[in-house]
Amino acid sequence: MSKVLVIGAGGVGSVAVHKMAMNQDIFSHISLASRTKSKCDAIAASVKERTGVVIDTYGLDADDVAATTALLNQIKPSLVVNLALPYQDLNIMDACLAAGVHYMDTANYEPLDVAKFEYHWQWAYQDRFKDAGLAALLGSGFDPGVTSVFTTYLKKHHFDRIDTLDILDCNGGDHGQAFATNFNPEINIREVTAVARHWENGDWVETPAMSVKQSFDFEAVGPKNMYLMYHEEIESLKTHLPEIKRIRFWMTFGDAYITHLNVLQAVGMTRIDPVMYEGKEIIPLQFLKAVLPEPASLGPTTKGKTNIGCIATGLGKDGKEKTLYIYNICDHEDAYAETGNQAVSYTTGVPAMIGAAMLLTGKWSGAGVWNMEQFDPDPFMDMLNAHGLPWQVKELDGPLTF
Ligand code: NDP
Repeated sequence: MSKVLVIGAGGVGSVAVHKMAMNQDIFSHISLASRTKSKCDAIAASVKERTGVVIDTYGLDADDVAATTALLNQIKPSLVVNLALPYQDLNIMDACLAAGVHYMDTANYEPLDVAKFEYHWQWAYQDRFKDAGLAALLGSGFDPGVTSVFTTYLKKHHFDRIDTLDILDCNGGDHGQAFATNFNPEINIREVTAVARHWENGDWVETPAMSVKQSFDFEAVGPKNMYLMYHEEIESLKTHLPEIKRIRFWMTFGDAYITHLNVLQAVGMTRIDPVMYEGKEIIPLQFLKAVLPEPASLGPTTKGKTNIGCIATGLGKDGKEKTLYIYNICDHEDAYAETGNQAVSYTTGVPAMIGAAMLLTGKWSGAGVWNMEQFDPDPFMDMLNAHGLPWQVKELDGPLTF
């Protein structure tokens, strides 16, 4: 029985709060704060209608550390679940330290002016959280998040040693729009246009953004083109599971998405440096976000499934080389029917609820800053099965041929 404060009233925040309300034995009191209070109120109304649970809402600029600290002192939650944007991570961590509250998020800190997804800014809080006797759990979404738990589950139950790991993120959903992103457009486009990096034999290998393409036949979706990308869990996985010689991350994109993105990039609309427009500085990517559909608005029209998982090759516990594929399939329309949000928000919001449950129930505990793969995967995996994201493990005939 614990109080939780969720910050961020986007698609992910909405799913997490709905799922928390469905688990009142763990989340005895839920508060939701975000920049625009009316968005919190709309989520609260949906939660009340779907579950009967009343949550309280607040307007908050989470970049204002003093204001966040004051709200924490007022509400006195056990845990803050940060589902705002990566830019707010450090400010919210500071407020948690000031108010003595545990912290959790789903995406690592990013400075506004450089698209760099790196953990070092948040890992630098290690001593402060340890000294304060507080836990900070980083990256409890799907990827990062479940993908790390999948990896530790395979390691714990199936492998003596993992040699290679490929993370495959497929969204087979169709939202009927010419171009839209399934989560925050600014963060999504910054991620997709960044140089691709993977980990191989103790070093980062860089390739130009979206330049390495493979086709893969995803169960429940079919064959899709997927592109090699950098993703933040590569950094934490190679740190905490140094035995893995190669770690790569792949994400699927349709041809229409790539064509639109190429044009937007070519004309400068994805730039994150300020440009002057009618005497005022604007950031082209932020302007682009303002004209693109809100991810939360895609829920009613999105059809199809997501399929996200990990393929690991290594030495099995039976002494044989093997390749295992562990994955979840999530249906956009089912996700929408349950929480009013499409599957990309759902597959992030459910693990956010589960990560919060791990901390609040003490199944995962300890002072300091933690990544997902540092904890026992089993209780998290059980909750995935019980709360809408069932997974399966399949043995493949051999390692990936690419
Ligand atoms: P949205 O853009 O839909 O929602 C973000 C919310 O945060 C909005 O309600 C926004 O308010 C609020 N917000 C932004 N800045 C502030 C601020 N300074 N103070 C208070 N609130 C603020 O994003 P999503 O819901 O799609 O994503 C949420 C998070 O989840 C992101 O960090 C994203 O990177 C992460 N994510 C992680 C994934 C994973 O698998 N690990 C996958 C997908 C997303 P307003 O509406 O007023 O702008």
